[in-house]
Order: sequence, then C-alpha cells, then structure tokens
Amino acid sequence: MSHPRTRVIVIGGGYAGTVAANRLSRRAAVTVINPRPHFVQRTRLHQYAVGNHHASGDYRKLLGKGAELLVDTATRIEPDTRTVHLESGGTVEYDYLIYAVGSTATRRFTVPGVEEFAFPVAEFEHAERLKYALSNLDADAMITVVGGGFTGLETAGELAEQGRRVRLVCSGAAGPTLTERARRATHERLSSLQVEILENARVTRVGPDGLALDDGTVLESAITVWTAGFGVPELARSSGFSTDTLGRLLTDETLTSIDDDRVIAAGDCAAPSGDPVRMACQSALPLGLAAADTVLSRIAGDEPADLDFGFNGVGVSLGRRSSVIQFHERDDTPKDQVHAGRIAAAVKDLGLKAAMAGLRMEALRPGIVGFPRGGRHPSNAVARTEHPSAAVSTEQLSERSV
Ligand SMILES: Cc1cc2nc3c(=O)[nH]c(=O)nc-3n(C[C@H](O)[C@H](O)[C@H](O)COP(=O)(O)OP(=O)(O)OC[C@H]3O[C@@H](n4cnc5c(N)ncnc54)[C@H](O)[C@@H]3O)c2cc1C
Repeated sequence: MSHPRTRVIVIGGGYAGTVAANRLSRRAAVTVINPRPHFVQRTRLHQYAVGNHHASGDYRKLLGKGAELLVDTATRIEPDTRTVHLESGGTVEYDYLIYAVGSTATRRFTVPGVEEFAFPVAEFEHAERLKYALSNLDADAMITVVGGGFTGLETAGELAEQGRRVRLVCSGAAGPTLTERARRATHERLSSLQVEILENARVTRVGPDGLALDDGTVLESAITVWTAGFGVPELARSSGFSTDTLGRLLTDETLTSIDDDRVIAAGDCAAPSGDPVRMACQSALPLGLAAADTVLSRIAGDEPADLDFGFNGVGVSLGRRSSVIQFHERDDTPKDQVHAGRIAAAVKDLGLKAAMAGLRMEALRPGIVGFPRGGRHPSNAVARTEHPSAAVSTEQLSERSV
C-alpha cells in the first residue's frame, strides 16, 4: 500500500526557501509559496535599478521536480491545524513548514519623509520603482544614497559608475563592519567615481527635492535612496510564534521553532538560539539546506543535526569594474586580508553566479550542494527543544495527512 507523501510548505521562494525545497523534493511533496512568479536575485537589485541586470530567475529551472510553486502570499500560520492562510483567500495544510520569508527594508521608518519620498532597494518592486524614477531623471541630477552598509555602498558605486552624480550619507563610517584596509579601498574606489561621502551625518528629514541633516544642513537631492536598516516580515510574530526583537523566528540550533517542532526557519528570517548569523545570500543557502536536512531527519525518525557552516568573507561590488573583498574566519570574524579591483569584481560576480548555480544543481540532484563547516559557536545555544513528536515515522505522518 502506498502512503501519501509528507507535505512540506515552504513560505518564501528566495535563496533559502528554493534550495530547501529542492533538497526536500525527492522525499516530500513540496509547495513553495511566493508572491511573484519569478525568482528574485536580491543580491542584484541595485543592478536592476540601474539597468545592467534583470535580477530575476526562472523557477522552472530553479525548482526541482517534485517542488511546485504557488504564487500567493501567506498571511497567517495556524500551528494547531497546521494550516497556512493565503492572501487569495485559500488555505494549504502541511506536515512540516519551512519559514523562509527573508528580509526587507526596515519596517519602521522613523525619519519623517522617508516613507513618502525615499526609494528603498530591498525588494524587487522597490528596485522597479527606483529604475523608473532614474529613467526620468536628468543625467546631472544629484542622487543621495543614505546608509553606509553594504547595500548603500553597492548602490552608490553602481549609480556613480553609470556617470550619475552621487552623494553617500552615513550615520557613522562608510562600511562600518569593514576592516580599516577594506574601508580605505572602498573609499578610494568611491572617490575615484566622484562619490561625495558624508560620514557621521544623521538624516533628520527627507523631502521630494532634498534632505536635512542633524547639524542643520539642507542638501538638494533629486532622488534619495534609503538603504539604512533592514527588517523582516511580521508573519511569524503575527501568527503567535516566539521571535527576536526584529521579528526573526526563534529556533534551536536545528533551526526548529522553539514553539513548534513542525516549523523550521531558514535564511534572513531565522534567529537560531537568538544569535542569528549575518543576513546574506552566503548564509541563506547553507541555512536553507540545514532546514531541509532537519525535516529529512524528522521524516526518517532520526535526530536532526545542529547548524554547522562557516563564512569565507564579504564582497562589496562598487560598480561592475571593481569590488572590495574582505576575507573572514569561518566564524565571520574579519581577517586583515583584502583584495580590491577588477579581479575582485570578477570573483564577486562569480560568487553571485555560483549561488544561482547552487540552486540549479540542488534542483537536478538533491543532496549534492555542500558548504564549509566549523563556523558556528553560539554563546547562548538554545538546548535542543524537547519536541514530543519529533520522531514520527513517515507512516504516522501519512496517516495524519489523509
Ligand atoms: C541590493 C542588495 C544587495 C545584496 N547583495 C548581497 C551580496 O552581495 N551578498 C550577500 O551574501 N547578500 C547580499 N544581499 C542580501 C541577500 O540578498 C539576502 O540576505 C538574501 O536574499 C536572503 O535570502 P532569503 O532566502 O533568506 O530571503 P529572500 O531572498 O529575501 O527571499 C524571501 C522570499 O520570501 C518572499 N516572502 C516574503 N513574505 C512572504 C509571505 N508572507 N508569503 C510568501 N512569500 C513571502 C519574498 O517575497 C521573497 O521572494 C543583498 C541584498 C540587497 C537588497
């Protein structure tokens, strides 16, 4: 007698959700819920805005056989009935849920005028809106990029390389998490592109034609791009799950929700042990695979393994012709080793292509993609939660499924 397959719902078809769906696709009936019919390469959104990359992907190539896409948005998770409510009005049921909704621009813009007048670049629709605004902008109009994190640096570099007049406003340093050497290389490149860099300058107001700083300076700006601060979707919190202050799902080291052993998190929206890894594509892929492995272990009745992967560095692209690469220890501590320039740009670009190739490879041969290990040493690891139904067999699950 054949048993129905275990049903896994993946909420969010980004890097983490897609790779998790692929790893699971041979052992489970997987449905990926995502609001768009195409994959978004968020790592390329600043490029999409300036028009030198499509920043998209085709799910028909990226999702393996056995994983289907449902174009919709999850509005609520009901753990008691293992049901996900959808914006379209429907519902879907699961045996296991992978929570992979990613991140977005900060959810609380505290600076007046940002919501109305500034342009974030965190989601596809943001980049589309910025692209349209740029297409109607005079070539010599001033563009201000607010935020000295990687997204701000990359956006400023991309715009400036296209000949735009760009100013970068940072509340602290430009590239605060970079080492001294990497910061110097970043400054040199941005300065060579004529980017005006204002550090330790806090924006107090944004308007349609400019912005004001905390020292009273008023700056003219035709477009203000806002990259300061990231947030995560509210879905976990509004569905009653324990989250960290940002709204990331709190999990143990197997990425299992501390409230519910059927809910496993991956990517930017996961907070294992309340000690989340850096929000990055570089971590979303190993987290997605680890989340899938946790589900596979549970299906097999085995004990899931703790999260174990290592970083290798940070690559900041500053236009197409130059990048700064800072090497890191596996635990994400920066080393004093930096490469900058054209070769670094090629390596950075190769890294982004490799991420897409990793999704495709896992779609074709689930289980094939691996990552360096040995980087995770959380100081406050949540002991593996006593999950009463952790070791249920496929048969038991199937009975509950029908
Ligand atoms: C401009 C820019 C440049 C970047 N460059 C780099 C880089 O060079 N290197 C790097 O490592 N990282 C980079 N990042 C960060 C990286 O893109 C993210 O860390 C990564 O995308 C996280 O992957 P994820 O799978 O967790 O989430 P995402 O890629 O954000 O995917 C989440 C998916 O879930 C969907 N979703 C959200 N809510 C719901 C819902 N309720 N129902 C259904 N679906 C939902 C979203 O629409 C999205 O499709 C960059 C980010 C930006 C914005």
